[in-house]
Amino acid sequence: MKIAVVGTGYVGLVAGAGFADMGSDVVCADIDADKIAMLQRGEIPIYEPGLEKLIAHNVREGRLSFTTDVPTAVAGGTVVLLAVGTPPLADGSADLSFTFQAAETVARALTGFAVIVTKSTVPVGTGDTIEAIARKHASYEFVVVSNPEFLKEGDAVSDFMKPDRIIVGTSDARALAILQALYAPFTRSSDRMLVMDRRSAELTKYAANAMLATRISFMNDLANLCDAVGADIECVRKGLGSDARIGTKFLYAGVGFGGSCFPKDLRAAIKTGHEASVPLRVLEAVVAVNDGQKHRLAEDIRRCFHGDLAGKRIALWGLAFKPGTDDLREAPALVVAEDLLAAGAEVVATDPVAIPAAQALLGQRVRFVASNYACAEGADALALITEWRDYRRPNFQRLAGLMRGKAVFDGRNIWEPADVCAAGLEYHGIGRTQRV
Ligand code: NAD
Repeated sequence: MKIAVVGTGYVGLVAGAGFADMGSDVVCADIDADKIAMLQRGEIPIYEPGLEKLIAHNVREGRLSFTTDVPTAVAGGTVVLLAVGTPPLADGSADLSFTFQAAETVARALTGFAVIVTKSTVPVGTGDTIEAIARKHASYEFVVVSNPEFLKEGDAVSDFMKPDRIIVGTSDARALAILQALYAPFTRSSDRMLVMDRRSAELTKYAANAMLATRISFMNDLANLCDAVGADIECVRKGLGSDARIGTKFLYAGVGFGGSCFPKDLRAAIKTGHEASVPLRVLEAVVAVNDGQKHRLAEDIRRCFHGDLAGKRIALWGLAFKPGTDDLREAPALVVAEDLLAAGAEVVATDPVAIPAAQALLGQRVRFVASNYACAEGADALALITEWRDYRRPNFQRLAGLMRGKAVFDGRNIWEPADVCAAGLEYHGIGRTQRV
């Protein structure tokens, strides 16, 4: 089966490589000429574990190629995946201009019947608009199907290759048969394909991200209460998560959620609710809690220094919005760094992979250091922001010897307060005042 992927970002690249690995012939197209040139040279424009090897293997086998020419990619394709970005507009709604532009180009380029599959996260009803645009420009039959993507950055390859579920939104039997054939290699051990109408499929993606983000904001709210009443959020988390009805995942208090999906998708869902005169009040609260939480760490640091950070050197461990990626979109680290700089602090930061991306955003105002211990050298305080594996069990004695001050802020609650304190350092977690 020949597949065209339009938009070669996190989703398009992983999906393209994943389908090629299962034997399909895939052409990935993108209007970003630099990105395509990198891929054609065998370089990978994003950091994603396992992706480089997967791409190299399938390029070598002649099943995967890259082009800036969308019509060339689409010609002869049975399936065309739309995986372009849907970034937020100023009013919170999703910017669908890339999607609609891609739909028009694809429709014009069809050379026979094709299934146009929307992989991008798009508001309910977008499939109808894509269909109307394509009808205007296509000379061949087509079906527009919603097939939202659930991969997570940092684990994208394994999520794509072993999906929990594959949501397919269509009422067209022919399109469904093609998608069943496309996904058959991924669903051999158990049938994980859920077929529904297109609008429900579109909404399911927002619902999933909204639920996960809700759990995080709920825990952050509780963590702040823990601090006020002298409880430990880590104890509460364990007690809560051991209830089988609740489960343990996404129950971590911290510095707030960021990334390219949760913040934008929540705002877009809220906008959809308003447009439908059904305000999504829970999600509005989730966003408000998260916006506040991103400032919390810098406020804690300021309070620790009695409101005066002038001349204080603060070391930040971790910049990416989560481990396993160099993606900085809406990363809490950016808010922390900006708050600390605004308060007059000197900021020194490190990250295993995201330093180049952070440098592009923060420039010379922050000093970037490759090693985490070198980053802590001479610091008045250290703040952990991204829970990279490299930071999970530091040598606190060594840190105590390197730092000028004693304050350690654990923005992800990954360290044992007793271990930190035993080295003569001061532990500050999120919702863990009681333990110190
Ligand atoms: P991205 O920004 O990394 O990549 C999008 C790509 O589309 C860019 O390379 C851009 O140049 C290209 N593009 C834009 N217009 C084009 C056009 N007309 N023709 C060809 N290429 C075009 O985006 P992403 O993170 O891969 O996300 C894509 C979609 O998938 C979004 O809707 C996002 O919400 C959704 N999604 C993302 C993730 C994730 O973890 N990143 C997970 C699930 C779903």
